[in-house]
Amino acid sequence: MNLILFGPPGAGKGTQAGSLCAEFGMVQVATGDIFRRNLKQNTDLGQLARSFMDEGQLVPDEVVWKLVEDRLGDEDVQSGVLFDGFPRTVKQSELLVAWAESSGWKLAGVVALEVPDEQLVRRLSGRRTCLDCGSTYHVDHNPPAVEGTCDRCAGKVVQRSDDTEATVKARLATYHQQTAPVLEFFDSKGLVSRVDGVGGIDGVAGRIRTALG
Ligand code: ADP
Ligand code: AMP
Repeated sequence: MNLILFGPPGAGKGTQAGSLCAEFGMVQVATGDIFRRNLKQNTDLGQLARSFMDEGQLVPDEVVWKLVEDRLGDEDVQSGVLFDGFPRTVKQSELLVAWAESSGWKLAGVVALEVPDEQLVRRLSGRRTCLDCGSTYHVDHNPPAVEGTCDRCAGKVVQRSDDTEATVKARLATYHQQTAPVLEFFDSKGLVSRVDGVGGIDGVAGRIRTALG
């Protein structure tokens, strides 16, 4: 099965992705994680992405699409993909749909997590992320067992540089201007299930399963 897990930054996409992938045999493709890995390895792609990420802006569509198209050719994603953080513009959505039509790839649906902005700001400013495996935590709702250390891989858990209040506000503005219209695009194809993303992590997980039938 191929799914898009959609929602504003901080909606809980990364938090929900792991169990969904394990349950439905999908591989998570998170474009933000790919950019952060490239940044860490100091690649040209990482350098290019940095300037946009630091400002809360989107990386240009052609750069994102080249990366996703290449990734879709990899052996490990042939059994199913869970997109997290992609597509983020109508253009990216159109490129994916055109590619899907020409390659026989089928999108099962778009699960859209809905969370009000005030709560997104609280979630993002309290988010902590593992530098090694990308697992996310929250200082209040979901802290690692040992402060500063990842439960899953024992890596160092830190605050992302774009999770500061000023950048979070810019990212939310970018979401409303450029990313929210993606929902209308997939709505017109009858592919969107909206899920209330407020409440405990397990409650949200249950509502996603209900939406998936
Ligand atoms: P996204 O991948 O959509 O940007 P994350 O999954 O990283 O969002 O979640 C953002 C922050 O909110 C993290 O700190 C995470 O621990 C926390 N979080 C995720 N789901 C919930 C929830 N249902 N209730 C409260 N906090 C949550
Ligand atoms: P995320 O980890 O999904 O919050 O993404 C972090 C940052 O990476 C975003 O604020 C963007 O700058 C960039 N990014 C990630 N995915 C995309 C995408 N699909 N299109 C454009 N920019 C992206």
